Amino acid sequence: MILTKTDFKEYLLCNKCLWLKKKKPEEYTAGEFSLFLQKLIKDGYEVEAYVQKLFPSGVFLTGDKKALIEKTNELLKGDKPIFQASFETKDGLFAKMDILDFNKETKKWDLYEVKASSEIKTDIKHNHVKDLIFQSIVLEDSEVDLGDSYIVYINRKYRRDGDIDINELFILENLSDEVSEQKELVRDEISEALKLLAKDEISLDGCECLNKSNGQHCDCFAKFNSQVPEYSVHNILVGNKLKMLVADGIVDIKDIPEDLDLTDIQSGKVSLQKVGEPLIDRDAIAQTLSELVFPIYFFDYETYSSPIPLLDGYKPNQQLVFQVSIHKLNEDGSLEHFEYLADKLEGTTRELIDTLKANIGPTGSIVVWYESFEKGKNEELAELHPEDRGFMEDLNSRVFDLMKVFKADYLHPDFKGSASIKAVLPVIVPELSYKTLEVQNGTMALSEWEKMIKGDMKSENIENTRKNLLEYCSLDTLAMVEIYNKLKEL
Ligand code: SF4
Repeated sequence: MILTKTDFKEYLLCNKCLWLKKKKPEEYTAGEFSLFLQKLIKDGYEVEAYVQKLFPSGVFLTGDKKALIEKTNELLKGDKPIFQASFETKDGLFAKMDILDFNKETKKWDLYEVKASSEIKTDIKHNHVKDLIFQSIVLEDSEVDLGDSYIVYINRKYRRDGDIDINELFILENLSDEVSEQKELVRDEISEALKLLAKDEISLDGCECLNKSNGQHCDCFAKFNSQVPEYSVHNILVGNKLKMLVADGIVDIKDIPEDLDLTDIQSGKVSLQKVGEPLIDRDAIAQTLSELVFPIYFFDYETYSSPIPLLDGYKPNQQLVFQVSIHKLNEDGSLEHFEYLADKLEGTTRELIDTLKANIGPTGSIVVWYESFEKGKNEELAELHPEDRGFMEDLNSRVFDLMKVFKADYLHPDFKGSASIKAVLPVIVPELSYKTLEVQNGTMALSEWEKMIKGDMKSENIENTRKNLLEYCSLDTLAMVEIYNKLKEL
């Protein structure tokens, strides 16, 4: 049984999950390898390619495991930096090193682990230091003369001004002391992981997260806890109250005892499920909607971010608005639609603001869903284009968040505790659906747009992708119009 660096990270996260994945892969519920995760992995490769420029004479290794190990052994006889140097120890540990660099002064190999994040993480989900230690142990056990161990991560203060300055964009932090201090602890953890993987059976009945709220569950939770419904006490409670209920075998929200001491929000969610009927405060909704001023602009942005800043003035991972959809509802009930979709990077924000200025008049409410997102983007656009600060600030002063209605005055058991538009729309306006669209969520949208503008897409597909992106963003604003109409009918 081989234990890779990724396996070890998964072991630290959850030993049961790793066992299932390695020993009974057919029963492992691979969390949908979501586009979001794929984007993170892609970001990681992109960052690695930039960091490699700091080692210009480096040799990039490719091939299968056997070829990688052979090439590594060959290159270890020289003194050139090696990208993807690979080792397998006799105990069954395998690791690919991002960068191994021969230090001509110490005559040892320095290890560099590249992270696409803007900090060194040491939490249970992402322990970058243990990641580095795993590799240093593999190197030590492979009898490589290891010098210093570094983590390379992104300088969050960097702001692009012309070509990317790789010396400013990355921080190289020497963590050799931390590696030495924690090496024995990590060796013990590795040995426990190997012992676990040597077992042919473990109990698959229940897991530790049964006592934790759903935000901490992994994709295997349902496999180990089949008695727990999809929307359960884990979605509402945390801490001791959750533990107490679970200890009494209560996992269905409808079974929560009446006398359990709950916050107002929690008891609202519980009674909603128990009653099974929507709770609608018509007067409050009428009062809220009366604040709206015609023409009403239903407004939605799509954004894209990259660890390597895309445009001048941008920081790493700062979101760039590449698309907007606006449905304008006039007082006479007529509806107009405006949109913008960037087909290149340069000039995107200028063209976007010009579209807004051409289509949004000096009066009327700007209706969004989750106001802090659109307002935040407008503030960033004002910073990039100070000449339009007044216009962007005026837009923000007119913003109305339609989601608020579904947090307080319109609650439905079928929203399952969520007020997102994706949860509300199918219940309130079932005839409108994202399901028939080619692009179904924001992550798909940004990944399609990325392919479109980075030249990863054949020209015959570009028009189709444009159409799909426009349809998706347009549905976001049309959905708000239809939800608003349903609220008015009440
Ligand atoms: S939900 Fe269960 S299987 Fe998943 S991380 Fe928690 S304990 Fe492990």
